Amino acid sequence: MPLPSGLPVVDHHCHLSPTGEGVRAAARFRSAGGTHLFLATQNYRPGPPTTLDAYREQFETTFRLADQVRAETGVVVYPVVAPYPIDLVAATEAVGLAAAIELQRRALDLAGSLIRERRAVALGEVGQAHFPVSDAVTAGIEAAFRHAFEVARDVGCPLVVHSNDLDAAGFAELADRARAAGVPPERVVKHYARTRVTSTSGVVPSYLAKRDLVREVEHDPAPWFLETDFLDDPRRQGAVLDLATVPRRAQAIAAEGPDAIERLRRPFVDSVERVYGFEPVTEDRSTP
Ligand SMILES: [Zn+2]
Repeated sequence: MPLPSGLPVVDHHCHLSPTGEGVRAAARFRSAGGTHLFLATQNYRPGPPTTLDAYREQFETTFRLADQVRAETGVVVYPVVAPYPIDLVAATEAVGLAAAIELQRRALDLAGSLIRERRAVALGEVGQAHFPVSDAVTAGIEAAFRHAFEVARDVGCPLVVHSNDLDAAGFAELADRARAAGVPPERVVKHYARTRVTSTSGVVPSYLAKRDLVREVEHDPAPWFLETDFLDDPRRQGAVLDLATVPRRAQAIAAEGPDAIERLRRPFVDSVERVYGFEPVTEDRSTP
C-alpha cells in the first residue's frame, strides 16, 4: 500500500557527510517515500575541532549539506547543531581540560545563536559519554551538558540528548535535570532509544527504527520519533540503519489499514508539532 500523499515521513536523527554518500543517501530516502530529515551535525574531519572556528566551519558544512539535499531531492531538512560531547575526550588531550570545557561552552553558545537565527531547529547532540572516561573528563562533560540546558532554556529550543540507553529511572533523572535547569522535559529528546519505555517522565524518546522495536512502539501515544542515526560513513557500514529504513517501516505500518495511517501521524506530525512547535508540511506526493 502506497503512503498517502500529504503524510510526512520523518527520520528524526541522521548524519550525512560531504565525503560519504551525502545527497545520494537522501535521494534513496526520498525514493523510499521519505520526506523530512532531522540532520545532526558531526565531525567531518579526523579528530575533533579544537577551535571555535573549526566548530563554525563544521556547522556551516551541515547547513551546506542541508541546502544541497533540499535543492537536489526536495527532502525537507532540519539541521540540529551542537559540539558532540565526546569531542571533549580528544580535545582535552589536545588543549587541556579547562580549555576543552571552555571550547564546548563557546561552541554551545554558537549553536544557540544559530538556532536563534533559525538556521537550525535544536541543540544536539548534547549529553553524556556512552563509554567509561576519566573522572576529570566526566566532570567536563557534565559541565558542558549543564551549559547545554542553559542555552536551550535561553534560546527556548529542544535538546537532543546522546546517552546510554535509558530505563524509566534514567528518563526520570533526565527530566529532573531538565526541570532544574528551567527546560520543560517535553522539549528534551532522548535520541537512539533502543528499548520501549512507557514512563519517560515527559522526555521524548526517539526510537531506533529496528523492525521489532517499531512493532512494539507503533501503538504508543505521541510524542515519540523514529530514527536511523544513519552515519554515512563507508568505513562503518552496517553500524547503524540505512537511511531508507524509516520510510520502509512506514510502508509496512501503512499496509495495516486506514487506522495505521492515523498512527503514523503520531511520530511524523504530532510529535514534531509538540516538541519543535512547527508542522512538518509536505507537498502533495501525487504532484510531480
Ligand atoms: Zn547521531
